[in-house]
Amino acid sequence: MSTVTILPGDGIGPEIVHQAMRVLDAVNTSMNLGITTEEHVFGGAAYDKHGDPLPDVTLNACRNSDAILLGAVGGPVYDKAPRDLRPERGLLRLRAELDLFANLRPAMLFPELADASSLKAELVAGLDMMIVRELTSGLYFGQPRGIEIRDGVRTGFNTMVYSEPEIERIAIRAFEIAMQRGKRLCSVDKMNVLEVSELWREVVERVGQSYPEVELSHMYVDNAAMQLVRAPKQFDVMVTGNIFGDILSDAAAMLTGSIGMLPSASLDSEGKGMYEPIHGSAPDIAGQGIANPLATILSVSMMLRYSLNKAAAADAIDAAVSKVLKDGLRCKDIANDAAANEIKIVNTDEMGNAVLSALNNAS
Ligand code: NAD
Repeated sequence: MSTVTILPGDGIGPEIVHQAMRVLDAVNTSMNLGITTEEHVFGGAAYDKHGDPLPDVTLNACRNSDAILLGAVGGPVYDKAPRDLRPERGLLRLRAELDLFANLRPAMLFPELADASSLKAELVAGLDMMIVRELTSGLYFGQPRGIEIRDGVRTGFNTMVYSEPEIERIAIRAFEIAMQRGKRLCSVDKMNVLEVSELWREVVERVGQSYPEVELSHMYVDNAAMQLVRAPKQFDVMVTGNIFGDILSDAAAMLTGSIGMLPSASLDSEGKGMYEPIHGSAPDIAGQGIANPLATILSVSMMLRYSLNKAAAADAIDAAVSKVLKDGLRCKDIANDAAANEIKIVNTDEMGNAVLSALNNAS
Protein backbone atom coordinates (compact mmCIF):
# COMPACT_ATOMS: atom_id res chain seq x y z
CA MET A 1 0.00 0.00 0.00
CA SER A 2 1.21 3.50 -0.72
CA THR A 3 -0.31 6.91 -0.12
CA VAL A 4 -0.09 9.86 -2.46
CA THR A 5 -0.99 13.42 -1.46
CA ILE A 6 -2.54 15.37 -4.30
CA LEU A 7 -2.03 19.15 -4.41
CA PRO A 8 -3.91 20.62 -7.38
CA GLY A 9 -2.82 24.20 -6.53
CA ASP A 10 -3.82 27.23 -8.60
CA GLY A 11 -4.52 28.37 -12.15
CA ILE A 12 -4.43 25.43 -14.56
CA GLY A 13 -3.23 23.21 -11.66
CA PRO A 14 -6.65 21.66 -10.88
CA GLU A 15 -7.41 21.15 -14.61
CA ILE A 16 -4.23 19.22 -15.38
CA VAL A 17 -4.15 17.35 -12.07
CA HIS A 18 -7.71 16.14 -12.75
CA GLN A 19 -6.51 14.45 -15.96
CA ALA A 20 -3.40 13.04 -14.24
CA MET A 21 -5.62 11.59 -11.49
CA ARG A 22 -7.80 9.85 -14.06
CA VAL A 23 -4.67 8.22 -15.47
CA LEU A 24 -3.35 7.30 -12.01
CA ASP A 25 -6.75 5.80 -11.06
CA ALA A 26 -6.79 3.78 -14.28
CA VAL A 27 -3.39 2.11 -13.75
CA ASN A 28 -4.06 1.77 -10.02
CA THR A 29 -7.18 -0.27 -10.78
CA SER A 30 -6.03 -2.22 -13.81
CA MET A 31 -2.61 -3.10 -12.37
CA ASN A 32 -3.72 -3.47 -8.76
CA LEU A 33 -1.15 -1.02 -7.39
CA GLY A 34 -2.80 -0.45 -3.99
CA ILE A 35 -2.35 3.32 -4.07
CA THR A 36 -4.61 5.57 -2.01
CA THR A 37 -4.82 9.30 -2.65
CA GLU A 38 -5.73 12.27 -0.48
CA GLU A 39 -6.29 15.76 -1.85
CA HIS A 40 -5.28 18.97 -0.01
CA VAL A 41 -5.26 22.70 -0.66
CA PHE A 42 -1.90 24.30 -1.32
CA GLY A 43 -0.54 27.59 -2.64
CA GLY A 44 -2.98 30.40 -3.40
CA ALA A 45 -5.96 28.13 -2.84
CA ALA A 46 -4.70 27.40 0.68
CA TYR A 47 -3.96 31.07 1.32
CA ASP A 48 -7.57 31.88 0.36
CA LYS A 49 -8.96 29.20 2.66
CA HIS A 50 -6.55 29.20 5.63
CA GLY A 51 -4.49 32.39 5.23
CA ASP A 52 -1.38 30.24 4.70
CA PRO A 53 -0.10 28.68 1.43
CA LEU A 54 1.14 25.64 3.37
CA PRO A 55 -1.30 24.95 6.21
CA ASP A 56 -0.35 22.34 8.83
CA VAL A 57 -2.98 19.90 7.59
CA THR A 58 -1.39 19.93 4.11
CA LEU A 59 2.17 19.71 5.42
CA ASN A 60 1.31 16.79 7.69
CA ALA A 61 -0.43 14.92 4.87
CA CYS A 62 2.68 15.40 2.71
CA ARG A 63 4.92 14.20 5.56
CA ASN A 64 2.83 11.07 6.01
CA SER A 65 2.60 10.07 2.36
CA ASP A 66 4.99 8.20 0.08
CA ALA A 67 4.76 10.73 -2.71
CA ILE A 68 3.17 14.05 -3.62
CA LEU A 69 1.66 15.10 -6.92
CA LEU A 70 1.52 18.85 -7.44
CA GLY A 71 -0.14 20.83 -10.25
CA ALA A 72 1.24 24.36 -9.99
CA VAL A 73 0.88 27.34 -7.68
CA GLY A 74 0.75 31.10 -7.99
CA GLY A 75 -0.99 33.77 -9.97
CA PRO A 76 -1.20 37.56 -10.26
CA VAL A 77 -3.94 37.85 -7.59
CA TYR A 78 -1.39 36.79 -4.99
CA ASP A 79 1.26 39.34 -5.98
CA LYS A 80 -0.07 41.70 -3.31
CA ALA A 81 -0.14 39.08 -0.53
CA PRO A 82 2.53 39.47 2.20
CA ARG A 83 5.80 38.10 0.78
CA ASP A 84 6.01 35.20 3.25
CA LEU A 85 2.47 34.09 2.47
CA ARG A 86 2.76 34.02 -1.31
CA PRO A 87 2.07 30.66 -2.99
CA GLU A 88 5.67 30.24 -4.23
CA ARG A 89 6.96 30.68 -0.65
CA GLY A 90 4.74 27.76 0.37
CA LEU A 91 6.41 25.66 -2.30
CA LEU A 92 9.93 26.56 -1.11
CA ARG A 93 8.90 25.83 2.46
CA LEU A 94 7.43 22.44 1.52
CA ARG A 95 10.66 21.45 -0.29
CA ALA A 96 12.73 22.52 2.73
CA GLU A 97 10.43 20.87 5.33
CA LEU A 98 10.62 17.54 3.48
CA ASP A 99 14.36 17.91 2.73
CA LEU A 100 13.76 17.34 -0.98
CA PHE A 101 17.41 17.83 -1.95
CA ALA A 102 17.52 16.00 -5.30
CA ASN A 103 15.80 17.66 -8.22
CA LEU A 104 15.27 15.42 -11.23
CA ARG A 105 14.61 17.21 -14.49
CA PRO A 106 14.31 14.98 -17.51
CA ALA A 107 14.72 16.51 -20.94
CA MET A 108 13.04 14.17 -23.33
CA LEU A 109 11.65 14.77 -26.73
CA PHE A 110 9.15 12.48 -28.32
CA PRO A 111 10.30 12.04 -31.93
CA GLU A 112 6.92 13.36 -33.12
CA LEU A 113 7.64 16.75 -31.52
CA ALA A 114 11.18 17.24 -32.85
CA ASP A 115 10.05 20.20 -34.97
CA ALA A 116 9.12 22.14 -31.80
CA SER A 117 12.81 22.45 -30.83
CA SER A 118 14.96 25.41 -31.74
CA LEU A 119 17.70 22.92 -32.67
CA LYS A 120 17.74 20.88 -35.86
CA ALA A 121 15.29 17.97 -35.56
CA GLU A 122 18.00 15.31 -36.06
CA LEU A 123 20.02 16.69 -33.11
CA VAL A 124 17.11 16.33 -30.66
CA ALA A 125 14.67 13.71 -31.98
CA GLY A 126 14.46 10.99 -29.35
CA LEU A 127 16.47 13.01 -26.79
CA ASP A 128 16.13 11.37 -23.37
CA MET A 129 18.40 12.69 -20.64
CA MET A 130 18.01 13.31 -16.91
CA ILE A 131 19.57 16.18 -15.00
CA VAL A 132 19.97 15.56 -11.27
CA ARG A 133 20.40 18.91 -9.56
CA GLU A 134 21.29 19.43 -5.89
CA LEU A 135 18.48 21.64 -4.58
CA THR A 136 19.04 22.60 -0.94
CA SER A 137 22.66 23.72 -0.65
CA GLY A 138 25.43 25.32 -2.75
CA LEU A 139 25.57 28.97 -3.79
CA TYR A 140 21.86 29.65 -3.20
CA PHE A 141 22.02 28.73 0.49
CA GLY A 142 25.68 29.25 1.52
CA GLN A 143 26.60 31.61 4.34
CA PRO A 144 27.89 34.28 4.60
CA ARG A 145 25.82 36.19 2.08
CA GLY A 146 24.77 39.80 1.81
CA ILE A 147 25.56 43.30 0.62
CA GLU A 148 27.86 45.45 2.76
CA ILE A 149 30.29 48.32 2.57
CA ARG A 150 33.89 47.12 2.21
CA ASP A 151 36.59 49.79 2.16
CA GLY A 152 33.92 52.35 1.34
CA VAL A 153 32.55 50.32 -1.59
CA ARG A 154 29.14 48.56 -1.65
CA THR A 155 29.92 44.87 -2.17
CA GLY A 156 27.62 41.91 -2.74
CA PHE A 157 28.75 38.41 -1.84
CA ASN A 158 27.55 34.81 -1.70
CA THR A 159 29.24 31.58 -0.70
CA MET A 160 29.33 28.37 -2.69
CA VAL A 161 29.55 25.62 -0.14
CA TYR A 162 29.14 21.83 -0.18
CA SER A 163 29.92 19.43 2.64
CA GLU A 164 31.01 15.86 1.93
CA PRO A 165 27.68 14.36 3.13
CA GLU A 166 25.74 16.77 0.88
CA ILE A 167 27.77 15.75 -2.16
CA GLU A 168 27.64 12.11 -1.23
CA ARG A 169 23.85 11.92 -0.99
CA ILE A 170 23.21 13.64 -4.32
CA ALA A 171 25.88 11.45 -5.95
CA ILE A 172 24.27 8.28 -4.57
CA ARG A 173 20.88 9.41 -5.87
CA ALA A 174 22.37 10.12 -9.33
CA PHE A 175 24.17 6.77 -9.53
CA GLU A 176 20.95 4.97 -8.49
CA ILE A 177 19.07 6.76 -11.27
CA ALA A 178 21.81 5.95 -13.79
CA MET A 179 21.45 2.28 -12.79
CA GLN A 180 17.74 2.47 -13.73
CA ARG A 181 18.53 4.09 -17.08
CA GLY A 182 21.49 3.84 -19.49
CA LYS A 183 24.19 3.42 -16.79
CA ARG A 184 26.13 6.53 -17.85
CA LEU A 185 26.65 9.45 -15.47
CA CYS A 186 28.30 12.78 -16.26
CA SER A 187 29.21 14.91 -13.23
CA VAL A 188 29.40 18.63 -14.01
CA ASP A 189 31.63 20.96 -12.00
CA LYS A 190 34.19 23.78 -12.31
CA MET A 191 37.12 21.92 -10.82
CA ASN A 192 39.72 23.99 -12.67
CA VAL A 193 38.71 27.12 -10.69
CA LEU A 194 36.68 26.21 -7.58
CA GLU A 195 37.83 24.34 -4.47
CA VAL A 196 34.23 23.33 -3.79
CA SER A 197 34.29 21.54 -7.16
CA GLU A 198 37.55 19.78 -6.25
CA LEU A 199 35.78 18.22 -3.27
CA TRP A 200 32.68 17.55 -5.39
CA ARG A 201 34.71 15.57 -7.94
CA GLU A 202 36.64 13.64 -5.28
CA VAL A 203 33.43 12.57 -3.48
CA VAL A 204 31.59 11.67 -6.72
CA GLU A 205 34.52 9.45 -7.74
CA ARG A 206 34.53 7.78 -4.34
CA VAL A 207 30.77 7.09 -4.47
CA GLY A 208 31.27 5.77 -8.01
CA GLN A 209 33.42 2.92 -6.69
CA SER A 210 30.23 1.36 -5.32
CA TYR A 211 28.63 1.50 -8.79
CA PRO A 212 31.14 -0.24 -11.07
CA GLU A 213 28.47 -0.79 -13.75
CA VAL A 214 27.96 2.95 -14.21
CA GLU A 215 30.34 4.70 -16.61
CA LEU A 216 31.30 7.95 -14.83
CA SER A 217 32.64 11.00 -16.67
CA HIS A 218 33.32 14.60 -15.61
CA MET A 219 32.74 17.83 -17.52
CA TYR A 220 33.34 21.52 -16.75
CA VAL A 221 30.10 23.46 -16.60
CA ASP A 222 31.01 25.79 -19.49
CA ASN A 223 31.71 22.81 -21.73
CA ALA A 224 28.49 21.14 -20.54
CA ALA A 225 26.51 24.19 -21.67
CA MET A 226 28.16 23.98 -25.10
CA GLN A 227 27.64 20.23 -25.41
CA LEU A 228 23.96 20.55 -24.48
CA VAL A 229 23.28 22.70 -27.52
CA ARG A 230 25.84 20.93 -29.78
CA ALA A 231 25.04 17.25 -29.20
CA PRO A 232 22.57 16.75 -26.34
CA LYS A 233 21.92 13.09 -27.13
CA GLN A 234 25.42 12.17 -25.82
CA PHE A 235 24.06 12.47 -22.24
CA ASP A 236 22.20 9.89 -20.18
CA VAL A 237 22.26 11.20 -16.58
CA MET A 238 23.97 14.44 -15.53
CA VAL A 239 24.57 15.34 -11.87
CA THR A 240 25.51 18.80 -10.71
CA GLY A 241 25.23 21.42 -7.97
CA ASN A 242 22.45 23.92 -7.37
CA ILE A 243 23.36 26.91 -9.53
CA PHE A 244 24.88 24.91 -12.41
CA GLY A 245 21.84 22.64 -12.41
CA ASP A 246 19.43 25.57 -12.36
CA ILE A 247 20.91 26.99 -15.54
CA LEU A 248 21.66 23.74 -17.39
CA SER A 249 18.25 22.19 -16.68
CA ASP A 250 16.42 25.21 -18.10
CA ALA A 251 18.61 25.11 -21.21
CA ALA A 252 17.96 21.37 -21.57
CA ALA A 253 14.20 21.84 -21.10
CA MET A 254 14.14 24.45 -23.82
CA LEU A 255 15.84 22.04 -26.22
CA THR A 256 12.54 20.21 -26.26
CA GLY A 257 10.62 23.38 -27.13
CA SER A 258 7.52 22.31 -25.22
CA ILE A 259 7.06 23.46 -21.63
CA GLY A 260 3.71 21.62 -21.37
CA MET A 261 5.42 18.24 -21.84
CA LEU A 262 8.09 18.09 -19.13
CA PRO A 263 7.69 16.54 -15.67
CA SER A 264 10.05 16.89 -12.71
CA ALA A 265 10.68 15.38 -9.30
CA SER A 266 12.27 16.48 -6.04
CA LEU A 267 13.37 13.58 -3.82
CA ASP A 268 14.57 13.10 -0.26
CA SER A 269 17.17 10.54 0.81
CA GLU A 270 14.53 7.84 1.41
CA GLY A 271 13.06 8.13 -2.09
CA LYS A 272 9.95 10.07 -1.09
CA GLY A 273 9.32 12.68 -3.73
CA MET A 274 7.23 15.55 -4.94
CA TYR A 275 6.30 15.34 -8.62
CA GLU A 276 5.18 18.28 -10.73
CA PRO A 277 5.25 19.64 -14.24
CA ILE A 278 8.09 22.12 -14.82
CA HIS A 279 5.65 24.82 -15.93
CA GLY A 280 3.73 27.22 -13.69
CA SER A 281 0.03 27.89 -13.17
CA ALA A 282 -0.40 29.58 -16.59
CA PRO A 283 -2.95 32.18 -15.42
CA ASP A 284 -3.29 33.40 -19.03
CA ILE A 285 -5.10 30.20 -20.05
CA ALA A 286 -6.58 29.04 -16.70
CA GLY A 287 -10.26 28.12 -16.87
CA GLN A 288 -10.28 27.75 -20.66
CA GLY A 289 -9.87 23.97 -20.66
CA ILE A 290 -6.98 24.11 -23.14
CA ALA A 291 -3.94 23.44 -20.88
CA ASN A 292 -1.74 20.55 -21.90
CA PRO A 293 -2.03 17.86 -19.18
CA LEU A 294 0.82 15.68 -20.50
CA ALA A 295 3.60 17.09 -18.25
CA THR A 296 1.44 16.25 -15.23
CA ILE A 297 0.51 12.83 -16.60
CA LEU A 298 4.23 12.18 -17.16
CA SER A 299 4.85 13.37 -13.57
CA VAL A 300 2.59 10.50 -12.44
CA SER A 301 4.75 8.14 -14.47
CA MET A 302 7.92 9.50 -12.79
CA MET A 303 6.28 9.12 -9.39
CA LEU A 304 5.43 5.49 -10.07
CA ARG A 305 8.99 4.84 -11.26
CA TYR A 306 11.07 6.71 -8.68
CA SER A 307 9.03 6.74 -5.44
CA LEU A 308 6.51 3.91 -5.69
CA ASN A 309 8.63 1.30 -7.45
CA LYS A 310 6.00 0.53 -10.11
CA ALA A 311 8.09 0.64 -13.28
CA ALA A 312 5.63 -1.40 -15.36
CA ALA A 313 2.83 1.10 -14.67
CA ALA A 314 5.19 3.97 -15.50
CA ASP A 315 6.16 2.29 -18.78
CA ALA A 316 2.47 1.84 -19.64
CA ILE A 317 1.77 5.56 -19.14
CA ASP A 318 4.84 6.61 -21.15
CA ALA A 319 3.75 4.30 -23.98
CA ALA A 320 0.19 5.67 -23.91
CA VAL A 321 1.47 9.27 -24.17
CA SER A 322 3.74 8.24 -27.01
CA LYS A 323 0.81 6.59 -28.79
CA VAL A 324 -1.45 9.69 -28.65
CA LEU A 325 1.36 11.82 -30.06
CA LYS A 326 1.96 9.27 -32.82
CA ASP A 327 -1.76 9.39 -33.56
CA GLY A 328 -1.35 13.13 -34.21
CA LEU A 329 -3.12 14.54 -31.14
CA ARG A 330 -1.72 17.84 -29.89
CA CYS A 331 -2.75 20.45 -27.33
CA LYS A 332 -2.39 23.97 -28.67
CA ASP A 333 1.04 24.58 -27.08
CA ILE A 334 2.68 21.73 -29.03
CA ALA A 335 0.77 22.16 -32.28
CA ASN A 336 3.62 23.77 -34.22
CA ASP A 337 3.12 21.33 -37.05
CA ALA A 338 -0.65 21.86 -37.13
CA ALA A 339 -0.52 22.64 -40.83
CA ALA A 340 0.02 18.97 -41.54
CA ASN A 341 -3.23 17.10 -42.24
CA GLU A 342 -2.73 14.33 -39.73
CA ILE A 343 -2.50 16.67 -36.70
CA LYS A 344 -5.59 17.17 -34.54
CA ILE A 345 -5.69 19.93 -31.92
CA VAL A 346 -7.45 18.81 -28.75
CA ASN A 347 -8.37 20.36 -25.41
CA THR A 348 -7.34 19.26 -21.91
CA ASP A 349 -10.20 16.81 -21.48
CA GLU A 350 -9.81 15.25 -24.92
CA MET A 351 -6.09 14.73 -24.34
CA GLY A 352 -6.86 12.98 -21.03
CA ASN A 353 -9.47 10.81 -22.78
CA ALA A 354 -6.98 9.87 -25.49
CA VAL A 355 -4.30 8.80 -22.98
CA LEU A 356 -6.88 6.76 -21.08
CA SER A 357 -8.08 5.00 -24.19
CA ALA A 358 -4.47 4.28 -25.29
CA LEU A 359 -3.89 2.76 -21.83
CA ASN A 360 -7.06 0.65 -22.04
CA ASN A 361 -6.30 -0.57 -25.55
CA ALA A 362 -2.79 -1.61 -24.53
CA SER A 363 -3.89 -3.64 -21.51
P1 NAD B 1 4.00 29.47 -16.75
O1 NAD B 1 4.84 28.25 -16.90
O2 NAD B 1 2.82 29.37 -15.87
O3 NAD B 1 3.50 29.96 -18.20
C1 NAD B 1 4.40 30.33 -19.25
C2 NAD B 1 3.68 30.18 -20.61
O4 NAD B 1 3.52 28.81 -20.92
C3 NAD B 1 2.26 30.77 -20.60
O5 NAD B 1 2.00 31.35 -21.86
C4 NAD B 1 1.37 29.56 -20.39
O6 NAD B 1 0.07 29.70 -20.96
C5 NAD B 1 2.16 28.46 -21.10
N1 NAD B 1 1.93 27.16 -20.45
C6 NAD B 1 2.46 26.73 -19.27
N2 NAD B 1 2.02 25.51 -18.98
C7 NAD B 1 1.21 25.13 -20.00
C8 NAD B 1 0.45 23.97 -20.27
N3 NAD B 1 0.42 22.92 -19.45
N4 NAD B 1 -0.27 23.93 -21.41
C9 NAD B 1 -0.27 24.97 -22.26
N5 NAD B 1 0.45 26.09 -22.07
C10 NAD B 1 1.16 26.18 -20.94
O7 NAD B 1 4.99 30.60 -16.24
P2 NAD B 1 4.66 32.10 -15.75
O8 NAD B 1 3.59 32.70 -16.60
O9 NAD B 1 5.98 32.76 -15.65
O10 NAD B 1 4.11 31.94 -14.27
C11 NAD B 1 2.72 31.94 -13.91
C12 NAD B 1 2.59 31.69 -12.42
O11 NAD B 1 3.08 30.39 -12.10
C13 NAD B 1 3.40 32.64 -11.55
O12 NAD B 1 2.63 32.98 -10.42
C14 NAD B 1 4.63 31.84 -11.16
O13 NAD B 1 5.18 32.26 -9.93
C15 NAD B 1 4.03 30.45 -11.04
N6 NAD B 1 4.99 29.35 -11.19
C16 NAD B 1 4.77 28.26 -10.41
C17 NAD B 1 5.60 27.16 -10.54
C18 NAD B 1 5.31 25.95 -9.70
O14 NAD B 1 4.21 25.85 -9.16
N7 NAD B 1 6.24 25.03 -9.55
C19 NAD B 1 6.63 27.16 -11.48
C20 NAD B 1 6.81 28.28 -12.30
C21 NAD B 1 5.96 29.37 -12.14
